[in-house]
Parts: sequence; C-alpha cells; structure tokens
Amino acid sequence: MSELDDLQSDAEQAARSMQAKVACAADEDGAARVALGFLAKNDWLGWALPEAYGGHAVGGRVAAEKVSVEALCAVRRGLARGCGMVDLMFVEQGLGSYALALGGAKDLAQELMGEYAAGTRIAAFAVTEKDAGSDLAGVSTQAVRTDRGYCLTGAKTFITNAGIAHDYTLLARVAGEPGDRSGLAMFRVPASARGLEVKRFEVMASHPIGEVILNDVQVDQRDLIGEEGQGLDLALGVLARFRTSVAAAAVGFGERALEESLAHLKSRKQFGRSLSSFQGLRFDLAEMDTRLAAAALLVSHAAACVDAEEDSKAEVARAKLFATETASWVCDKAVQHHGGLGVRRGTVVELLFREVRALRIYEGTSEIQKLIIAKHLLNQDTSS
Ligand SMILES: Cc1cc2nc3c(=O)[nH]c(=O)nc-3n(C[C@H](O)[C@H](O)[C@H](O)COP(=O)(O)OP(=O)(O)OC[C@H]3O[C@@H](n4cnc5c(N)ncnc54)[C@H](O)[C@@H]3O)c2cc1C
Repeated sequence: MSELDDLQSDAEQAARSMQAKVACAADEDGAARVALGFLAKNDWLGWALPEAYGGHAVGGRVAAEKVSVEALCAVRRGLARGCGMVDLMFVEQGLGSYALALGGAKDLAQELMGEYAAGTRIAAFAVTEKDAGSDLAGVSTQAVRTDRGYCLTGAKTFITNAGIAHDYTLLARVAGEPGDRSGLAMFRVPASARGLEVKRFEVMASHPIGEVILNDVQVDQRDLIGEEGQGLDLALGVLARFRTSVAAAAVGFGERALEESLAHLKSRKQFGRSLSSFQGLRFDLAEMDTRLAAAALLVSHAAACVDAEEDSKAEVARAKLFATETASWVCDKAVQHHGGLGVRRGTVVELLFREVRALRIYEGTSEIQKLIIAKHLLNQDTSS
C-alpha cells in the first residue's frame, strides 16, 4: 500500500466512526460542528491546507505554499466513503482559505490558516451570485475604496458554510461592469463585520448553505487578497486546485453505494433465491465497479498532473465530469437494488443519492467541464 492508499483508508475509517454521531445531530449546523470538531481533534484539517500555513504534506511532492491535490483526493475519497458531512467540512476549510495562500497578506494568511487547521475558525468561499454562476465574470458585488480599505455592497448565493463561517473569501467588482473579467478582486470578509447578513436556505441533502448579503460592509486594506484586477484569476486558481477533489469525493460516494448494493443483494432473498444470484443484477454490479475504477484512474491522473504543475485543465475536467456523473449513476443503481428501502429516509443509499447530486453542479457543472474538454480538443486540432 502506498502512503496515499494508507491516507485514504485511515480517512475512511475515521469518517465511518463519525457517521452515527453526525446523523444524530439536531440540525445541519450541529452536524457540521460535530464533523469539524472531530476533524480538528484528530488533526485531519491540515490535509486541506498548504504545509507553509500549518498544513500536512506527503513526502515533499508539492511546494510548501500549495495544497497537495493527490493527498486532498486520497483524504476526500476516504472521508466521502465514510460520511458526507465530514468530507464537506474537511474540504471547505481548504476551499474557503486557499485564496489567502495564493495572494493574501502573509501575516493575515498565517494567522487565519493556523486557526482553520486547528478548527477554531471556519472558512467559506463566496463567488456565486444570482446572476453570476457558471460565468463568474458576471459578478456585480461592488467594492469601493475607502480611507481604511474597501466598502462592499451586494449579495452572494449558494455559499456553503454561510452562517457558521468566521470568514468569507469573496469575489467582488472594483471596476467595470458585470461581464468585464479584469475588474474583479478577492477579499477576506469577516462574518462579524457590520452590515453582513446571512439568509439560510435548504438544499436536498444536509448542507449548511445560504445567501450572504453585504450592506456597506467595511473591510481593511489588508483584507484585499492579491491585487485589484486579479480576482477572477485567484478564484479560478482556487477552483483549479480543488476541483479534482470533488471528483475524488464522488468516487468515494459511489464506492460506498456499491458496497451497500453488494451487501443488500447478497442478504436479500426473493423468488426463493438471493438477489445476487440474478444475472441482471450481477451485470449491474460489474458495471458499477468498472465505471468507478475508471473514474478513480482519471482522478489519480488528474491529481498527479496538477501536483506536477502541468497544464491539466482537460485532465481535471475529464475527471470531474466522469466521476461525478458515474457516482450519480451508481448511487441511483444502488437505490434501485434496495427496492423500497432505497428511498426510505435513514437508509445509507438514500442519503448517498441525495448527497452526490450537487457534485455535478458545484465547482463547475458537467456542461462547463464538457466545454473545457472541447476547447482543449479544438485548440489541439490544427486542421480546423
Ligand atoms: C450544494 C451547493 C453548494 C455550493 N457551494 C458554493 C460555495 O460554497 N461558494 C460559491 O461561490 N458557490 C457555491 N455553489 C454554487 C455553484 O458553484 C453554482 O451553482 C454553479 O457554478 C452553477 O451556477 P448556477 O447555479 O448559477 O447555474 P447556471 O450557471 O445558471 O447554469 C444553469 C445550467 O445551464 C448550464 N450552462 C451554463 N452555461 C452554459 C454554457 N455556456 N453551455 C452549456 N450549458 C451551460 C449549466 O451547466 C447548468 O446546467 C454551490 C452550489 C450548490 C448546489
């Protein structure tokens, strides 16, 4: 077993040990806090952060200022197999803080990321708006310079950890009109800032999420991450580092669904026989396994390319597209294999089916991944 395999297997065991406790929490914020507390206590959060800012590393594979995507993927695949909420709280600490490592003031990044590693602060990544989803150039939240720093006005939506986060790394417009890619900047916005309001809503699986509304929110000069005009590159840089790990989590969800199918089909009898003796269902199992194995290979390849600093947009897009679509398909099959139990609240496959769906949407939808792959193909094709 490689170091990464060990990491994945330890992560899975850890998350499985938390599944029942997370499920018993009174609400999704409670579940999120139980998951985060566990991750912090057992020193898992460092795998979502760069080594230079209190994170962990596997044998110096990436520069100390970067998060190792291979390690991130190993941990997420394991955590997602064990418990979706533990995986979610793990990755958000990295996703919500990585812009600081890319371009934040060094002292601020050191101070905050130490706390994210310890789980004493919660991070969130806030780029999406009502009219700026797949196309982030449409961001209209305004950041106007003041004596002290900047004053922010606007609204973000679909923000994971809205309401429980202590800080948002947030994309706002410092110049130009929506559609202009060069007029954006990223900021660290403390949740405690006056004028910041959160409106929560629910999505189909337990997930702390909502709108973040900014009513003349004042931030300091040191809260500007990078420079004015670099915002879109920074936001896309964060996504480029973390997107492969969405694919890894999808593989983890799919593998757990296959495991549940195998156990159910072996134990359940109908027509006097075990369901696993029916050839049609055996074909399903073989196909689920083969597609997941292919997805896992795409994920490993993409993660290795990103860590090697190769131009890996197409590799990452293939992994995200195929793994998330495959995992959705596998979880749907697993629900079907369970019959009525498959849709009964509290069954593992019912939860997986709901949890896995959003992975085809966030951090770049499946359609956006197809556009990236097609662009790569067309750029390579010198005949057109
Ligand atoms: C559970 C969840 C958590 C999230 N967490 C966060 C978060 O923490 N922070 C954050 O900033 N955002 C977050 N998001 C937002 C997420 O990143 C967006 O939902 C996503 O980028 C898609 O944007 P949209 O919802 O506006 O859809 P749209 O961009 O409006 O797309 C709608 C549909 O049109 C398709 N489409 C769009 N453009 C094209 C095109 N050019 N060609 C073909 N098809 C196209 C899309 O693929 C999609 O199917 C989260 C979303 C969800 C569901």
